[in-house]
Amino acid sequence: DSGLMWFRRDLRSSDNAALHHALRRCRRVWCVFVFDRDILDPLPRADRRVEFIRESLVGLDASLRALGAAHGHADTGLIVLHAPATRAIPELAQRLQVQAVFTNHDDEPAALARDARVFGELAHQGVILRSFKDHVVFERREVLTQAGQAFGVFTPYKNAWLKALTPFYLKAYPIERHAGALAPLPEALNRPVPTLADIGFEPTNLSRLPMPTGEAGAQALFDDFLQRIDGYTEARNYPAIKGPSYLSVHLRFGTVSVRALASAAHLLHQQGNAGATSWLSELVWRDFYHQILANFPHVVERSFKSEYDAVRFEHGKAAQAKFQAWCEGRTGYPLVDAAMAQINQTGYMHNRLRMVVASFLVKDLGIHWQWGERYFAEKLIDFDLAANNGGWQWAASTGCDAQPWFRIFNPVTQSEKFDPQGRFIRRYLPQLAGLPDAAIHAPWTANAVELAAAGITLGETYPLPIVDHAAAREKTLERYAVVKKQN
Ligand code: FAD
Repeated sequence: DSGLMWFRRDLRSSDNAALHHALRRCRRVWCVFVFDRDILDPLPRADRRVEFIRESLVGLDASLRALGAAHGHADTGLIVLHAPATRAIPELAQRLQVQAVFTNHDDEPAALARDARVFGELAHQGVILRSFKDHVVFERREVLTQAGQAFGVFTPYKNAWLKALTPFYLKAYPIERHAGALAPLPEALNRPVPTLADIGFEPTNLSRLPMPTGEAGAQALFDDFLQRIDGYTEARNYPAIKGPSYLSVHLRFGTVSVRALASAAHLLHQQGNAGATSWLSELVWRDFYHQILANFPHVVERSFKSEYDAVRFEHGKAAQAKFQAWCEGRTGYPLVDAAMAQINQTGYMHNRLRMVVASFLVKDLGIHWQWGERYFAEKLIDFDLAANNGGWQWAASTGCDAQPWFRIFNPVTQSEKFDPQGRFIRRYLPQLAGLPDAAIHAPWTANAVELAAAGITLGETYPLPIVDHAAAREKTLERYAVVKKQN
């Protein structure tokens, strides 16, 4: 039998469930990635994610060639197509005369719809689509309450997750020893990975960012993080320091195996490493939001808790203008503005800051969380529908959290607490660098001498706050009161 391995959010040649099964079950296996025009065509022409994928594919192609060569097979590289996947996969399956297409699950609604179409087309041709769990440790309905329901609250989910975990769920899917099944590419398909220009995109600043691509990049980041994991619990709170792993983009595109990461973290956790325990918990959050999306797909359109659909957010020109100021980092709240500069300049934002800016948009500006969710979806290099939607609904208190909605982040005290010397703020807002630490979190509190010494004219070189936090807080309490009345 021969098979086709279709890579999507699993751009690696080690510990890959679908690739493992394809190589074991088929005598000959070809590998393909499709730059899906249904996804790519609507994007702006410069997009860090497209560049990240392209760079990672170069590494994947090289390692597939090396794996084949180790078994004496030449030209076992990656076929890279640029077309609608729903058409390209059935066509390629027919051209290569395979009996089965192997792929890993993608539970985003649009991906499920795409896969259903591909499944139908392939079935027509007598080809089977086989799909495997690979992206998370536990998926869909694998971890349930005792009553057999999907979890909607994190802590009991985490406890059940930890209880269900056995070495089976973390063991790697070996590739190397089965790689003799990798088949040489027909000459017409034996091409280098297309350049960005070939697929109609322009380079971004990705190569100048500390965001190494591919499996090698993920490994380098993880090796570096393991040196720091002991201190993670504390360090992860401060955006100015290198606290977290920066692996989110790699988890998103599967340039690293979540099993490998969870396995390393779990071992350290069992040895009593508190940092590893916290970090493992973040990987559980990731599984949690994936199962939320799979079991409660209405979250894509609406609140997780339906009673929150009654909350009325701001609309119209004034709201638009405030939203624009938020996007461009012109709110007058330095931590918010510095965080927005970080996402705009790098495609990454520190987790603490994602919580701060999300809370600010929803609870200080009174703007619907979906506006922010959409902006993050455009900008984040690690954008993931499940985690992003979960994060936004969490911040808006409409999601699966035990947090009461009247807990509202104060953007100034958050700044004082998590960027006490304003190091992060100064990095992204150099125009404020000259302010004393005490005033950098709220420049409007600086006196005239301090402002003059720092060369700042409020309203000109740096904006005045576009909203008064105390007043906004009251308004939010009113806005959300409709929920209390309903209950
Ligand atoms: P680390 O602290 O090293 O965490 C390790 C891994 O755990 C991360 O790479 C990520 O895969 C996972 N993780 C950590 N925190 C969370 C979380 N709260 N939810 C789900 N998974 C988590 N994460 C995304 O991957 N994509 C998104 O689009 C995304 N959008 C978010 C939007 C909002 C409003 C909020 C509050 C959070 C969002 N997150 C998202 C979660 C989190 O902020 C990022 O995963 C994290 O900042 C990535 O940095 P890191 O890899 O250095 O994290």
